[in-house]
Amino acid sequence: MVIDFHTHIFPERIAEKALPHLAKVAGGVMPCGKATAESMLPVMDEQGVDKAVILNIATNPHQQKSVNDFAISFVSDGRIIPFGSVHPDSEDALSELERLKQAGIKGVKLHPDYQQFFVDEDRMFPIYEKIAELGLITVFHSGVDIGYPDPVHCTPEKLSRILARFGNAPVIAAHLGGYLMYEQTLEYLSGSGIYIDTSFSYGTVPPDYAKKIVSSIGEDRVLFGTDMPWSSPVNELNYIDSLELSDEALKKIKYLNAQKLLKI
Ligand SMILES: [Zn+2]
Repeated sequence: MVIDFHTHIFPERIAEKALPHLAKVAGGVMPCGKATAESMLPVMDEQGVDKAVILNIATNPHQQKSVNDFAISFVSDGRIIPFGSVHPDSEDALSELERLKQAGIKGVKLHPDYQQFFVDEDRMFPIYEKIAELGLITVFHSGVDIGYPDPVHCTPEKLSRILARFGNAPVIAAHLGGYLMYEQTLEYLSGSGIYIDTSFSYGTVPPDYAKKIVSSIGEDRVLFGTDMPWSSPVNELNYIDSLELSDEALKKIKYLNAQKLLKI
């Protein structure tokens, strides 16, 4: 069993337009599939992924409802587990979180670079507190985003300062706690209670860094992810398998931790 905790898909007509643009700003990364449900499912079948969390992002306040309607359309899908998103500039952000919860959505993705907020800004606190109250899972893009590298809106240090706002609601820092910010992850996120995902590590993260981070965050708090379509399951699974982790740790990372968090 493998659960991929970090993937992206779009409605078909948006994927057609968005994919070439996003691939270009990411430095010409070759997408795996077409970033649609239809193209992702065969890749999952071929490359051994049973279920995938899709991380939708509202990149402006006007998009928020349609992005979440798209997420909600997958709520009863057996293999795709949809996460929603709220935009910090939306007047409806708090009621939208309630709508997501009521619709059966289990978590939200926040991308501080795409959504233009610093993760430790005061204006975000009502959103974090509402998430805590509803018990939703939050995935933050963390560290450098290749497409929008400057400034980094979510660093491990900034994240460590706001974690308490989420109470017992689980928080996940994508990309091993902070893409290209591994020293900060070790310094600020060890023992913090945060979860991390392993997405987009193949070919970019030295395995020694990953090993150190997994052991310092703890194997109970690491979730396998690919970042499809920006990386492929086969590459990311090979990467995880190369880290010389115990069989028990691999099971936790590939699906047991995700099952617990998602209650599936
Ligand atoms: Zn991603």
